[in-house]
Amino acid sequence: MRIGIGFDTHRLIPTIRKEAIALGGVKIPCFYQIESHSDGDVVLHALTDAVLGALALGDIGQWFPDSDPGNAGRSSGDFLSFALAEAKRLGWAVGNIDCTVHLEEPKLASHSDAIRTSIAQLAGVELQCVSLKAKTAEGLGPVGERKAIEADAAVVMIPLR
Ligand code: MG
Repeated sequence: MRIGIGFDTHRLIPTIRKEAIALGGVKIPCFYQIESHSDGDVVLHALTDAVLGALALGDIGQWFPDSDPGNAGRSSGDFLSFALAEAKRLGWAVGNIDCTVHLEEPKLASHSDAIRTSIAQLAGVELQCVSLKAKTAEGLGPVGERKAIEADAAVVMIPLR
């Protein structure tokens, strides 16, 4: 068994009209956009780093530098798929995933199952192997001031049978 953790943060930009942010591969409607070179999906970025970390394969920025125009606006599912393909090549598969999103708004409770389902599909695991938690920052720090969104991810990798 191998264990990996990942973290990611992106700046939030308030919008006049309702836009959407990508979380775990799902578009969540809200009055914010995420400042990012890719689609800015903090959940998938943290999870990709967790998978890479479990296998000591460096980090997402090493494999997908934001200086590469080819990564502009890129779907973060691609990053996770790459990490999982490397894992498979080395004989490892995802056992379970636990993620936490730090965000003041919107509330994620009504989107949680959609996000878990999306992550489970991307990772090739059952829904009950994917946990998603959401926390506010009680008005404190960049998350509390609605200037940032953050995500933590932990993953257990198990040997492929
Ligand atoms: Mg990121």
